Amino acid sequence: MPDHPPNKILRDVFGFPSFRDNQESVIDHVTRGGDALVLMPTGGGKSLCYQIPALCRRGLGIVISPLIALMQDQVDTLKQLGVSAAFLNSSLDAESAREVLRQLQRNELKLLYVAPERLMTDTFLNLLERLQKDNGIALFAIDEAHCVSQWGHDFRPEYRALTVLHERFPNVPRIALTATADSPTRREILERLALEKAKQFVSSFDRPNIRYRITLKANVRQQLKAFLETEHPGDAGIIYCLSRNKVEDTAEWLKAQGWDALPYHAGLDAAKRSKYQNRFLREEGVIMVATVAFGMGIDKPNVRFVAHLDLPKSLEAYYQEIGRAGRDGLPANAWMTYSLADVVSMRQMLMSGNALDERKQVELQKLDALLGYCESIECRHQTVVRYFGEEHPGNCGQCDNCLVPVETWDATQAAQMALSC
Ligand code: ADP
Ligand code: MG
Repeated sequence: MPDHPPNKILRDVFGFPSFRDNQESVIDHVTRGGDALVLMPTGGGKSLCYQIPALCRRGLGIVISPLIALMQDQVDTLKQLGVSAAFLNSSLDAESAREVLRQLQRNELKLLYVAPERLMTDTFLNLLERLQKDNGIALFAIDEAHCVSQWGHDFRPEYRALTVLHERFPNVPRIALTATADSPTRREILERLALEKAKQFVSSFDRPNIRYRITLKANVRQQLKAFLETEHPGDAGIIYCLSRNKVEDTAEWLKAQGWDALPYHAGLDAAKRSKYQNRFLREEGVIMVATVAFGMGIDKPNVRFVAHLDLPKSLEAYYQEIGRAGRDGLPANAWMTYSLADVVSMRQMLMSGNALDERKQVELQKLDALLGYCESIECRHQTVVRYFGEEHPGNCGQCDNCLVPVETWDATQAAQMALSC
């Protein structure tokens, strides 16, 4: 066993009394030098799965992440805990980057976060080889590993090159982590990262405290108003819309109704975005009306609802988005309103333009799966986790379908509603 046992590091460095579900077995496996694929929902605690083995093993732990904005945060947190950590990405000026390289050469770092394009340069790989001979490399952690998947929602071509790590450092354990667990993506990760022999650790993707509710669109603003007034006065929440215009309009309208609502989309300048994000994170009861540009890495425990005024692209995207609600484990609502007309226009958007290539086919299938979920009369928890390859007994007793079972589906009424909006 290592000199620093994992549970001692968990307590002494991170200040937590106990591990969460798979953390301990992942950490044990990687600390002993094994490769791992970790599938764990967002907020589940993936970071400790590589941070602790890196601290238990000799040498430097390298964390590859595409999320430049989050590296600084993670590194600051680690430093506050007394762990010597740094990051290397395009946000650093030349002098700061040189300082990190100096720290590396002096073996002063225990954890280095690095953007994939930085890692894959010849100079950097050569430096790693020297470090490997010198003080050793504890592990490579490949965070957000679904970025390697061409069909996923967040493809990063640089991730494809990461197999080089295995070729040049065959003895260094690798741990890939993601919250995207559908089986095609999982297979692609294992294959593309040459992790076929890795041990897989799959956590449950069920979020028992989330109450799923899906309704057909009628008068959306009235529906939203009724939802907020009856269930969420004074609560923090996120409302997702497809377009920037709709984000602005909805936020304006909510403000006029007396709600503390803010808009967020990629068209706002950076200063506004960070100001609004900070208000949402730090103050109580702020409603963020946003496009999907908002949310990556948002770790606010008491988001009480996530509402969708438009359909997300896929069940994975939906799951990621609603995953920002109820991180504190207390009840939270995932509320969505949709219309068949939305589905038709999304299909048309996908099919327009060039020939129906493989990528579009996949996107259409994903949209169909999402529509299947919307129209399903089964327990929502069951449908969601089944999509991620997991069994669920059903009858959660709190989603719309369990609370008000649909005896017969009134297609005429649904079609009329679709045409009227
Ligand atoms: P993920 O990367 O899976 O989305 P993080 O690693 O960012 O999740 O962890 C989410 C939150 O859970 C963090 O605030 C982290 O400190 C906390 N956390 C992780 N593991 C534990 C644990 N064993 N005990 C208590 N809190 C934990
Ligand atoms: Mg993470």
